[in-house]
Amino acid sequence: MDEDIVLQIRQTVRQLCENFPGNYWQQKDRDRDYPTEFVEALTEASLLSSLIPEQYGGAGLPLSVASAILEEIHANGCNGAACHAQMYTMGTLLRHGSEEQRQAYLPGIASGELRLQAFGVTEPTAGTDTTSIATTAVRDGDEYVVNGQKVWTSRAEYSDLMILLARTTAKDKVAKRSEGLSVFIVDMRKVVGNGMTIRPIRTMINHATTEVFFDNMRIPADSLIGEEGKGFRYILTGMNAERILIASECIGDANWFIRAASAYAREREVFGRPIGRNQGIQFPIARAYADTRAAELMVREACRLYDAGEACGAEANMSKMLASEASWAAAEMCLQTHGGFGFAEEYDVERKFRETRLYQIAPISTNLVLSFLAEHELDLPRSY
Ligand SMILES: Cc1cc2nc3c(=O)[nH]c(=O)nc-3n(C[C@H](O)[C@H](O)[C@H](O)COP(=O)(O)OP(=O)(O)OC[C@H]3O[C@@H](n4cnc5c(N)ncnc54)[C@H](O)[C@@H]3O)c2cc1C
Repeated sequence: MDEDIVLQIRQTVRQLCENFPGNYWQQKDRDRDYPTEFVEALTEASLLSSLIPEQYGGAGLPLSVASAILEEIHANGCNGAACHAQMYTMGTLLRHGSEEQRQAYLPGIASGELRLQAFGVTEPTAGTDTTSIATTAVRDGDEYVVNGQKVWTSRAEYSDLMILLARTTAKDKVAKRSEGLSVFIVDMRKVVGNGMTIRPIRTMINHATTEVFFDNMRIPADSLIGEEGKGFRYILTGMNAERILIASECIGDANWFIRAASAYAREREVFGRPIGRNQGIQFPIARAYADTRAAELMVREACRLYDAGEACGAEANMSKMLASEASWAAAEMCLQTHGGFGFAEEYDVERKFRETRLYQIAPISTNLVLSFLAEHELDLPRSY
C-alpha cells in the first residue's frame, strides 16, 4: 500500500476526531449513551467500509489501512469499539456467503444503510469453550427455529444484522465437537420482539453490550452462511482480522497515554520543577514507549502477513496479547503520572484506563492466546 495514501487516511481520521473531543466522550460515558454522531461521521467519511471490496461498494483496502484507521481513532482519544465490528464482521459473509447473500447485504453495509456489527458467539455457560454453546437452530421446512441465549453481544441494539453461531447437530452426533455448528446472518429488524429479546448489560465502560435471548425465533433457511455444520471454521477464519484490529486500537490507546503522560510531566510543577525531570516519572514513560513500539512491530508484521494472504494465526494472537498488555501498562503509568488528577473525569485518563483494560479479556483472553502459542507454535500438549 502506498505510504502516502496511508498518511492521508491517518490525517483524515485525525481531523475527524478533532470534532469529538474529551467532553463528548465524557458525556457519552456518563450517560452510557451510544456515540451515534461519531459513528455517523466515520460512516460518511467511508472509513468503516474500507475492507469491503470495491465491487460491493467498499474501498477494497488492505487490513493495514483498517489497522491505521482504528489506531488513529484511539490515539486521538476517541473509541472505535462502538463500530469497529462494522469493519470486519462482514468478513464471514464475504468469505463464506453465497454471491446472492453478498449482493443482498454488502452494498448496504458499505454505504452504512445497513449495520452489521453484532456478533453472537459467546454464551454464559460455554464461555471460551465455543464448541460447547447451547443455542440451537433446528431446520423446519423453509426456516430454522433458534432457541438459546448469547451474552456480551455488543452493539446488538445498534445493528440491523447479526452474525449468529448456533448448533445445528447435537454434540454427541458429530465426530468432532467443532462440527455441527452453523453460522447465520440474522435480519434483526424482523425478529426483535418476535423471538429475539435484547437486554443491555451495564458495564464498567460504555460499550453498548447486551445479552440476547432466542425463544423459538424463526429465520429463513437462506440465512445460513456456507454449509450447515461448518460454521466453527468460518468463525475462526475471521478471528485473525479481529485480533489484529483490536491490537491496533491498543497501540492507539498506548500512544494516547504516552502523549498525555509526557505532556503532563512537562507541565506539572511540584517542588519547584516539572515532575518529568524526575527519573521516577521519566522512566515509566520511556518504558511504556519502548513496549508500545515493540508491540507495534508485531501488529505491522501480522498485517503484512494477513495482507499477503499468508498464515498469521500466531502473529495475530501475539499482536493482540502484546498490544493489550502494552496499552494497559501505559494506562497504569499515565494514571500514576497524573497523580490525583488522573482520577478526574475531565482528563480522560480514567475513562481510557477503563476502556483499554477490556482488551486483555475480549475478544480473547490472554491465557487462551498463550495456550494457542504453546500448542501450535511450541508443540506442547493441549492443556484443555
Ligand atoms: C465488554 C465485552 C464485550 C464483548 N463483546 C462480545 C461480542 O460482541 N460478541 C461475542 O460473541 N463475545 C463478546 N465478548 C465476550 C468475550 O469474547 C469473552 O468475554 C472472552 O472471550 C472471555 O470469555 P469468558 O468471559 O466466557 O471467560 P471464561 O471462558 O469464563 O474464562 C474466564 C477466565 O478463565 C480463563 N480460562 C478459561 N479457560 C482456561 C484454560 N483452559 N486455561 C487457562 N485459562 C483459562 C480465561 O482466560 C479467563 O481469564 C465480550 C466481552 C466483554 C466483556
